[in-house]
Amino acid sequence: MNSQSTGEKPTNFIRNIINEDLSSGNHKSVITRFPPEPNGYLHIGHAKSICLNFGTAQDYEGYCNLRFDDTNPAKEDIEYVESIKEDVQWLGFDWNGEVKYSSSYFDRFYKCAEELISKGLAYVCFLNADETREYRGTLKIPGKNSPYRDTNIKENKTLFKKMKGGEFKEGECVLRAKIDMSSSFMCMRDPTLYRIRFETHHQTNEDWCIYPMYDFAHCLGDAIEGVTHSICTLEFQDNRRIYNWTLENLDDFNVPNRPHQYEFSRLNLEYATTSKRKLKLLVDNNHVASWNDPRMPTISGLRRRGYTPASIRDFSERIGVSKVNSLTDISILESSIRDDLNNTATRSMAVINPIKLVIENYSVGKLETLKAPIHPQNEEMGTREIFFSREVYIDEEDFVEVAPNNKYKRLAINKEVRLRNSYIVKATHFDSDKDGNAKTIYCTYDPETLGKNPSDGRKVKGVIHFVEASRAISAEFRIYDRLFLDSNPAKFDDLSSTLNPNSLEIKNGFVEPNLSNAKAEIAYQFEREGYFCRDSESKGLVFNKTVGLRDTWNQ
Ligand code: ATP
Ligand code: MG
Repeated sequence: MNSQSTGEKPTNFIRNIINEDLSSGNHKSVITRFPPEPNGYLHIGHAKSICLNFGTAQDYEGYCNLRFDDTNPAKEDIEYVESIKEDVQWLGFDWNGEVKYSSSYFDRFYKCAEELISKGLAYVCFLNADETREYRGTLKIPGKNSPYRDTNIKENKTLFKKMKGGEFKEGECVLRAKIDMSSSFMCMRDPTLYRIRFETHHQTNEDWCIYPMYDFAHCLGDAIEGVTHSICTLEFQDNRRIYNWTLENLDDFNVPNRPHQYEFSRLNLEYATTSKRKLKLLVDNNHVASWNDPRMPTISGLRRRGYTPASIRDFSERIGVSKVNSLTDISILESSIRDDLNNTATRSMAVINPIKLVIENYSVGKLETLKAPIHPQNEEMGTREIFFSREVYIDEEDFVEVAPNNKYKRLAINKEVRLRNSYIVKATHFDSDKDGNAKTIYCTYDPETLGKNPSDGRKVKGVIHFVEASRAISAEFRIYDRLFLDSNPAKFDDLSSTLNPNSLEIKNGFVEPNLSNAKAEIAYQFEREGYFCRDSESKGLVFNKTVGLRDTWNQ
């Protein structure tokens, strides 16, 4: 995450704008902000915005504020405030100074509203919601002026004070900007600046019963904090007019180096939703266990599943920043985590569908301690102890009675295979249940093959993993599939109709004994199975599958 001047990072249109601003002297430094509304947990789309805002500021040696856009107390909660702070820090970013809240500027916002009223640029409007909609017109039909538009300044000042004083009911009136009811931009048709809400706010309690709208609060928050580049998603493109209008009409903020808004395309990820509203519905309707269910595209869900901060930052970089809306291929996210874990994850063996393998020519009661590399490509990571004895578990999928062809590399009767990190074994016979399924497999081992090939030159190509039975530890494995059946769930307003009923499969098997104290959220590579990490919310030994070893989805 180092300097852009080293040329390590690909440039993007935001960096181009910043470079121009710095070279023209328009700005001397770069100040950005990440402005979440605390009405849900952060998701992978927010991660893109976090990496862009914090990452850009960092690269230009500026800073980034974390500002809660807390202007809608009805939907907000302190639980969300806390989770957002945790997620931003977990991603590896640090905000400048204290956490900021739009609500801490409510006094200042109020004064700005009074200034607009004094300038004849805002008025208190008593049209009800239906009337307001009707007066607004449509894209084809210009709006009509509200009958309250010409109330005189003095009267508007009094009415606004009364709004603040709680003298009107919720919905009875709003403060509106006086701009242009025939503007081709709907957001400029006298937008609402303040509305009445009798709610308890998580920061300001009962201090206020009027709350500013996003379009009014956001630009003012930026200007108060000296933000230079206010980066948001494309759906706010039109709202840039109201952003500029507000700042240009306030004496303190109509200055050459005032903040400007720039829009980039939001992340839409295949098989995921990045709508907080829809994510909340999944939680509220128990389609998932919680906001941090490992199937959720939330930052906390990805973390619980074993994604690393570095992999998410890498993903953000791979997808880049543009102004074109698109659906991002989920395999890009998966290859980011795979690439990271392939280099760093400790190797281990886990048997997910266990079946017992009895090595008949191995002494009863003998237990050998063997060494296995922690990472085969990185000797410096050292070795781990594994065990070997007469009975081991292998995966039932690694055995068939008759090998289907010469290329078959797993265990079959009369066929040899290497048990990973130990000996070569040859299956001889098996017991089966009444349905003919193998229950116990019997084999012999070649004692001369520990860590070396057979001396007679015979080639044994197949390698399967195993766990020694007496020391094996029981574990639960949670294997996840896509949460949604459709690659673009945004098409569905009701996501429950495209939920994948098989998004979670639970299996019970065995792991190596050294995993008994595995740390939560740190991924291991279970050889031949994939990356898994211990679940942070379960008491017993439960492993969440992070991602498979290869991209099998498109095969
Ligand atoms: P809501 O759905 O509640 O309106 P939101 O998705 O806009 O929420 P905010 O909390 O307002 O969420 O978002 C904080 C910041 O994250 C905003 O600047 C927003 O533009 C950005 N952001 C939100 N979703 C995405 C996304 N999918 N891709 C990129 N940036 C996003
Ligand atoms: Mg928003």
